[in-house]
This record gives sequence, C-alpha cells and structure tokens, in this order.
Amino acid sequence: MLSLEAARQKIMACFQPLPAQAATVASAAGRFLAEPIVSPVDLPPFDNSAMDGYAVRAADAAGAVPDSPVTLKRIGLTAAGEIFKGAVLPGTCVRVFTGSALPAESDAVVMQEDTRLDPARPDHVQLLDAVKPWENVRFRGEDVKRGATVIEAGQRVNAPRAGLIAALGLDSVLVHARPVVALLATGGELLEPGQQAQPGKIFESNRIALAPLLAAAGAVPRTFPIVRDTLAETRQALEAAFENCDAVVTTGGVSVGELDFVKAAFEQLGGTLDVWNVAIRPGKPFAFGRYSNKFLFGLPGNPVSAMVTFLLLVRPALLRWQGAAHVELPTQPGTLAEPVSNPGDRRHFMRMRLDEAGVVWSAGRQGSHLLGSLALASGLVDVPPQTSWPAGTPVTLLRIED
Ligand code: AMP
Ligand code: MG
Repeated sequence: MLSLEAARQKIMACFQPLPAQAATVASAAGRFLAEPIVSPVDLPPFDNSAMDGYAVRAADAAGAVPDSPVTLKRIGLTAAGEIFKGAVLPGTCVRVFTGSALPAESDAVVMQEDTRLDPARPDHVQLLDAVKPWENVRFRGEDVKRGATVIEAGQRVNAPRAGLIAALGLDSVLVHARPVVALLATGGELLEPGQQAQPGKIFESNRIALAPLLAAAGAVPRTFPIVRDTLAETRQALEAAFENCDAVVTTGGVSVGELDFVKAAFEQLGGTLDVWNVAIRPGKPFAFGRYSNKFLFGLPGNPVSAMVTFLLLVRPALLRWQGAAHVELPTQPGTLAEPVSNPGDRRHFMRMRLDEAGVVWSAGRQGSHLLGSLALASGLVDVPPQTSWPAGTPVTLLRIED
C-alpha cells in the first residue's frame, strides 16, 4: 500500500502540460494560459471622465459655492465614444458623461449634481462647487501600463481575467488543450437515472457527481453507459472509452472481490498499473495506470471514496496536464467545534462543515457509503492516524468546491 504522497508523486510524474492552442477569449474561459499576458496598450487608453458632468478648467471653478456660483459657457457635448473637436478655453465648459474622453485643455470634471443650468441663459452652466485639478478624471494607464505583465502563464482564465484580457483588446490567447475524460461506472446493481426502481438495485450516482468536478477541473467529461461486472464487458467498455478520450475514470470494481474486473480488464488491454491501494480512508482501493499515452484512474465505488480520491489524486493530475500553476485544493482555516478522533492506521479525510463563524463541525456519520453527510460537507479535514483532537483545535479544511 502506498502513502498518499508516494501515490501522488507517481501519478503527477506522468503528466506534462498538453500542447498550447490559440483560443478566443470567450472560449478560453476556464482554461489555463500557456503564455503570460503582456498588455499591448495603456488602460484606460485615454484620460476620461469618471462622472456625468462638465469638463472645466479647475482654475475657472475656484471659489464656486451654491450662494455664489461660477458661470461658464457650455460650448458642446461629447458622449462616451466621441472626441470633442474644440478645446475648453477659459470661461467655457463641455458636457461630458462617464467614460467620455476628456476634452482638450480641460483638467477636471464637475459632477452634474454640483451644477445647474443658468435659468436666464440655457447655454450657460452654474457651478455650485469648486474642483481640484484632475478631480473626477480617470487617467490613461492608471489601471494597466503598456508592456506590463498582467497575468502569468499557468493562471486560469477566470471571469475577471477574461474581462481584463478582452479590455486590452486581445481577441485570442494561447491556452493549453483540455483533456477529454471518460466517466465509467461499473456495477451490476446500478440503474441509469430515470429507470424503474428494482429490488436490490440502486441508482448510479458517481458519474453524476464526478462530471461537474471534472468540468470544474478544466476537463471535458464524457459519460459512458453503466458497465456490468464481467471481464469481457469491462474490457470492451474500457477499450471504447480509451478510443474516444484522453483518460478514463472508472468507479467501482477495483477492489478485491471476484466481481471486480477493472484492473484485470485494463491489463488485458495492455495497460500498465502504477498504483493500487493508497493508505487513506476513505478511498483505499484506488488504481492508476497508463495505456499508451492515456491514463486510467480507477476509483472505488463507494460514493464518498470516489469523490475523495478524485479530489486528492485525479484533480491535481488533470490540472498539471492543463499547465496549471496551482494544483492544490483550495483551503480554509477553521476551529473544531467538537472533538475528532482517528483511531485507525490510515489518514482519515473526514467530511466536515464550516459555518459562517469559522467553526468546523462533523458533517455527520463518516461511512464511505453515506451521501447524506457528504452532501452537507463543505470540505475534508485530514486527520492523521491514531490521533485525537479536542474541540478548539485549529484545522484546515480542503474545500470540495473551488
Ligand atoms: P465496488 O467498489 O464496486 O465494490 O462498490 C462499492 C460500493 O459502492 C457498493 O455498495 C456499490 O453498490 C457502490 N457503488 C459502486 N458504484 C456506484 C455508483 N456508480 N453509484 C453509486 N454507488 C455505487
Ligand atoms: Mg462493484
């Protein structure tokens, strides 16, 4: 039996980043950058107004107060997207809006709320307040300077980064390819969703739970039909999945029962097993192997074990494969609400719930078949073998979802 670290090392050593490919910014969302993003422009690209108001010369507005306003002649209007053709000469102002390019020779914007139209002369504006030079002006390059590296390679194109890349005017970026990953569930007891319930059978849930985790890890999930527990059917199902996908994730059939065929079928196909059995709870019967340049992750069938092994052993490999700089699960600190103990000799990844006060509670009973407590959990706490922790112990929660 391998330690978790040893298993992880063996697996991670098999994954190099997939080739880079150009993608539109929209289709790059969720993928990992194969290049740093260097800004080709200043952002904002020009000085502009932060307010709806009037572009003025600050010196003209000096001393303006409601009882003694300063009156300026309004010489034009420039909407966002336009360039004002003239210049703001002394004694004049130009109507501007948020995002309007600052008209030539103006150096401040008086917000609309601090002005009123001169009742006698509608082309004149009364300023009710003074402004400092450059007040309410957003400067060219204050956000991003041309030539600056704004995002490092290996970062995910998340929503804010996609927005930034688009704002820089880049319509295509280099990202790593996404692996297509097959999801296979083995088990003669399993029913497809929507099938009639039958005595002795249960509804399949692992593919349903793992597909969104695969997608969240950047992979493209492909769900295959349920595989009955025979060597021939398991081999055929693996063969079909490997033909169409870059990696295969199976659940169940990887333990020691005489109806567990995943390892034997994989080896019959010509695959090589590198890892089997990892010293963690839940999730001991986990297998990893290589089949030409493709990979098998054989997860245990129990739903909690399948999810825990996915998070600890599959997710980091998928991320490394896509060139991600960070492959660890997101963590959150907390304090135990109640004592926790692991009398066993394997690390126990317990399902725990973090409340808004940062207090960590057991999500319920900890059996590896118990989906009810898994569904209540916000994450896993890694409790070492033969360890008891009193209430109040600080712990780190490994989050199930990013
Ligand atoms: P196995 O690893 O195949 O021995 O399965 C262990 C336990 O997990 C058994 O109780 C199975 O019924 C259950 N199980 C296996 N695969 C699934 C699945 N896809 N969905 C729900 N439960 C499963
Ligand atoms: Mg089974």
